[in-house]
Amino acid sequence: MSIWDGVKGQSQVLGCLQTLVDSNRLSHAYMLLGPSGVGKRRVAKTVAAALACQNAGCGDCRECKEAVSGSHRNILTIEPSGRQIRIEQIRETQRWLSIDPGRNTWRVVIIDPAESMGSAAANALLKSLEEPPPNVVFFLLVEVDGALPATVRSRCQLLRMNLLPDKTIEEILESEGASPAEAKKWAPTAAGHADRALALFRDDEAKDWRETFFSQLASLGSSSAARDRLVELSTEYISDRASKAESEVLDQAAEAEEFLKGARGSGLKTQIKENSSRAKDRASSEAAVEICDLVGSWYRDMAVFAESADVSTLRNQDVAGLVKGAALNSADSAGALMAVAEASGILGYNVRETEIFESLFLRLSHLRR
Ligand SMILES: [Zn+2]
Repeated sequence: MSIWDGVKGQSQVLGCLQTLVDSNRLSHAYMLLGPSGVGKRRVAKTVAAALACQNAGCGDCRECKEAVSGSHRNILTIEPSGRQIRIEQIRETQRWLSIDPGRNTWRVVIIDPAESMGSAAANALLKSLEEPPPNVVFFLLVEVDGALPATVRSRCQLLRMNLLPDKTIEEILESEGASPAEAKKWAPTAAGHADRALALFRDDEAKDWRETFFSQLASLGSSSAARDRLVELSTEYISDRASKAESEVLDQAAEAEEFLKGARGSGLKTQIKENSSRAKDRASSEAAVEICDLVGSWYRDMAVFAESADVSTLRNQDVAGLVKGAALNSADSAGALMAVAEASGILGYNVRETEIFESLFLRLSHLRR
């Protein structure tokens, strides 16, 4: 299977990039704009694989496999160190790029998420974008339009990637072994983010957590019990996701250390520590966003059900019974959705997630009397 067939649901962006690679007209910088979980990183790695492969992205050779797994020597992924991508990381990259790897060797730099560059880092990067080294492609992965300085943005070709339609997520689930019925059930819950649907399909604990969470939402009212439990469930979910992400990095690092035994690279320990705390931060902010989306989807279902009394249009069909039982009028659903939108807006600022969820669930409990 060609490497170009490996990403589902982004045929427009991929088709465009494939044509450019095949005709050797690739530009030096692309901004991939789209929400999380739509395959931005995968698209960037696909191009990187096609450039590294001797056979136009066969998907089978060592170059292709290393490009996709992220271990290829000519592909560099820059992620935030702490909350930000720092200027030192950009300078290090520029030093790496200044060493000529030999004729016709392509190198790819993936900056993910590019909006986490501070202004100093963005300015440093601008120099490379203005005077790009030969045979280098930058991919700036961005979730929010307008988050990058205009000077940086104007030096990149913009490619938009949309949320995936339910149908595509169904196909992805089926290709991972889900039955058509399962695929149909879980695809709409993911609201366009394939990664969420996959996590839910693969993990029974995640399904249980979800059911508990929704049943508490359904019983949210004047007593504080459900409210406290929701805050607890949310914070547990976030810290669980964060520690999973951290231990994944530590496991990889343990392998690397084993490999380097005897010839231990200096600074490896520091690097490992940085990488794992970065992965942890990123996973916890993604999990917090996911919880806001989940609560939003519940009240969206409430509003839809109040209008149509039709369960087939619900996003969360696995809990259709709960939605029916908790039925809320449209005005209250709208108020709830507003509260959720406001909470989402505060995420990412320097406020503890627990506090955000405490006040969100408090507001929501007032709506339901
Ligand atoms: Zn190949």
